[in-house]
Amino acid sequence: MPLSERTTPANWPSFSFQVTDTSSEPGVRGRCGALTLPHATVETPVFMPVGTQATVKAMTPEELAEIGFGIILGNTYHLHLRPGEELIARAGGLHRYQAWGGALLTDSGGYQVFSLTGLRRIGADGVEFQSHIDGSRHLFTPESVMQIERDIGADIVMAFDECAPFPCAHEYAREAMERTHRWAQRCVAEYDRVGRLATGGWPQALFGIVQGGVYADLREESAEFLAGLDLPGYAIGGLAVGEESSARNETIAATAARLPGAKPRYLMGVGTPIDILDAVQRGVDMFDCVLPTRNARNAQVFTARGVLNMRNAQYNEDFGPLDANCDCAVCKRHTRAYVRHLFRANEMLGPRLTTYHNLYFYHNLMRRIRESLRHGTFSAFYRSFVHDYRQEPDDSDSPNVRGQGAAPGDFREIVGGKELK
Ligand SMILES: [Zn+2]
Repeated sequence: MPLSERTTPANWPSFSFQVTDTSSEPGVRGRCGALTLPHATVETPVFMPVGTQATVKAMTPEELAEIGFGIILGNTYHLHLRPGEELIARAGGLHRYQAWGGALLTDSGGYQVFSLTGLRRIGADGVEFQSHIDGSRHLFTPESVMQIERDIGADIVMAFDECAPFPCAHEYAREAMERTHRWAQRCVAEYDRVGRLATGGWPQALFGIVQGGVYADLREESAEFLAGLDLPGYAIGGLAVGEESSARNETIAATAARLPGAKPRYLMGVGTPIDILDAVQRGVDMFDCVLPTRNARNAQVFTARGVLNMRNAQYNEDFGPLDANCDCAVCKRHTRAYVRHLFRANEMLGPRLTTYHNLYFYHNLMRRIRESLRHGTFSAFYRSFVHDYRQEPDDSDSPNVRGQGAAPGDFREIVGGKELK
């Protein structure tokens, strides 16, 4: 049915999630599923590109669809400040405003307002903060965030949460978790009050966010509390903030095990290809991360052999593709030498080409993950991917660019995978 004819909620597909395959391999809790949303149906495990400011930086909607993405992110904090949710609602919602035919998910802005150290004040009612753009004062409460997300109109909306910093004492992690729970209850009340519908008329699915730092007892308590609210899906928040990957993986395992198996599990802001493999193994279905897009703008290219930096001199006359194992439109046509030249000359096509390739790499990784789960070969796929990915990349003149892809000055981006987007 054309979008223009879907004027009543009954004409829109409502949210559903079906687990279609569960791995039978020992120690693998990963599963495949189908996530049906008003604007798209997507297969899980899925990667969702980050489109903070109503755009996945450097990509057109057609390019995202061509790669195969069915769902992307928008950000409540940024879109509230500019252009404002009322304008987006008048445009017919964010899908129409940015001419994106797929589904959308909006973060609640909790992560962003808690990143504004010194610019914010936490109260019982919500968070008062100053805009990073013009210093204007704003108050986010669970109710106001739900209203903003309703006007923006994403298919999936996130509850307003408090993302505690890392490191964080158990006592503070508990306080932040309990506040997140009280706010989640208020988000649900507001969501029910407006009939669980976007301003544009289609159904919205509210996801709760599990918090609790790296403390397994808190994570378990948080997962059980939120499961009790019987929401359409659940996210694991507050990770990729600087913790070790072993602590992160333990936290993910403890949390995922306590979340209802019939609901999708979304790990927010994580991560590298290996982080994603680790989380799929522990039962995570949905991912977002700025790494493929942000690192692309720093000339970093994800390949089967790890991350390569196209600024390096050794690519000056390298007439091979960005990744010999990739069949994306960029790798079919362009060379490393040309991409390196574009970056050195500050040509805007450079970041466009690397972004396209990196997003294709992530999308293709998820496809291969789903295939391996279906065929019961995830463990073998994991071992072979990690083995190849950790090979010494052929960046002999740049000792920092290897494995997980840390480059000078980029360490925080890569380890964190998440910052004020
Ligand atoms: Zn490619």
